[in-house]
Amino acid sequence: MKTIIEPFRIKAVEPIKFTTASEREHILADAGYNPFLIKAEDIIIDLLTDSGTSAMSAKQWAGIMDGDESYAGSRSFYRFEEMVKLITGMKYVIPTHQGRAAEKILFSIVGQEGKFIPNNTHFDTTRANIEFSGANAVDLLNEDGKRPEVIADFKGNMDVEKLREFIEATGVEHIPMVMITVTNNSGGGQPVSMQNVKDVRAVCDQYGLPLFIDACRFAENAYFIKKREQGYADRSILSICQEMFSYADGMTMSAKKDALVNIGGFLAMNNENLAMQCRNVLIVTEGFPTYGGLAGRDLEAIAQGLEEILDEDYLHYRIRSVEYLGDKLIEAGVPLMRPTGGHAIYLDAKTFCPHIPVEQYPGQSVAIALYQKGGVRACEIGSVMFGKYDENGQLVPAAMELVRLAIPRRVYTQSHIDYVAEVIIEVFQEREKLRGVKLTYEAPMLRHFTARFAFVE
Ligand SMILES: *Cc1c(COP(=O)(O)O)cnc(C)c1O
Repeated sequence: MKTIIEPFRIKAVEPIKFTTASEREHILADAGYNPFLIKAEDIIIDLLTDSGTSAMSAKQWAGIMDGDESYAGSRSFYRFEEMVKLITGMKYVIPTHQGRAAEKILFSIVGQEGKFIPNNTHFDTTRANIEFSGANAVDLLNEDGKRPEVIADFKGNMDVEKLREFIEATGVEHIPMVMITVTNNSGGGQPVSMQNVKDVRAVCDQYGLPLFIDACRFAENAYFIKKREQGYADRSILSICQEMFSYADGMTMSAKKDALVNIGGFLAMNNENLAMQCRNVLIVTEGFPTYGGLAGRDLEAIAQGLEEILDEDYLHYRIRSVEYLGDKLIEAGVPLMRPTGGHAIYLDAKTFCPHIPVEQYPGQSVAIALYQKGGVRACEIGSVMFGKYDENGQLVPAAMELVRLAIPRRVYTQSHIDYVAEVIIEVFQEREKLRGVKLTYEAPMLRHFTARFAFVE
């Protein structure tokens, strides 16, 4: 059969409130034309993020009821620990309230001034936690990964040659660990090949460095390996994950992604001494080692989610549904980052509306139009998010002007996605009408969350 159906039935529903175009005009004006400031109930389709927005399964909800809330040694912890050990083979498993808490603990121990931590691309919370520790976060992505129009299988790969050069130039004593992020969230959700993980491992071995995986989307990455990398077509997703983690010494994880829950995370590793230090920080900042920053019920839901994410039918539907939206847009000529990654579509706003200069934030303008046209919430990932000012107060724009439409897991059906495609295509067909925007308010840091805008006359 050619039609790929959602591999689930719907047991509980959450109504969507519809708004009219004229209502949305007022809502946008009240929100200062910043989608982050719109109330969720005024959104028709919310593609702001795939983080913590998954629909849990009936079994996960049953686990929520069944969670063991004992302070120490909870049954739910042991189920969670067993599942993480099965997938990753890591010896020590430390639960945290979300991914950045795992990062904070790890880098407060291994990071400090004068240290450098390379990655294919650091996610923003990873970079922030490394920099907060005083250390430097270094991105060593392969060249294809930086070019939205290039179609390649593993655009998330680390540039192994650059890694070797970087280690030589920096000095191995200044590098506490190497990281690799699967899939590469900040680089469009592009996958990393098993060969690349192995090659990075070989470099780490050569210099005696530990390798940590930022594993937020490990199962989506494993699915891409199965489909695209030679020798993996007949392997189970679980065995691909196990092989990938076998090359690593540790990992950080946001359970809000591939563990299919609304909150949670963890840290896992093989080094006993490091694990002991992490647990000591954990006790001060998160909680006792068998619950971290979570309730027993959360651990139960994560354990169940980790089991469900390995289901190939689910992953097939997941990756295909993102690609399905991408295909519809490509067919209509809409410019986007290619090939489509694991969790989101990234519109290329510079090509989408070439008449809007980067100083007038074309990505923001597209995001505003998507909401105005159809109540779809997307996220600008361009100069609003990453732009900086030089000493003369001139904008130094971001490398790319993208608009991300992240697809929550198991939440929307094909007709929702058809609707999103229709909204984007209509906005694209009327793109000459889009106007640039200027900032009327911005905070000194992470300005995209609270900024307010007005249209340029
Ligand atoms: C989401 C994410 C994190 C941070 O996790 P939170 O649970 O949001 O704190 C770290 N790395 C990557 C790649 C992510 O996608």
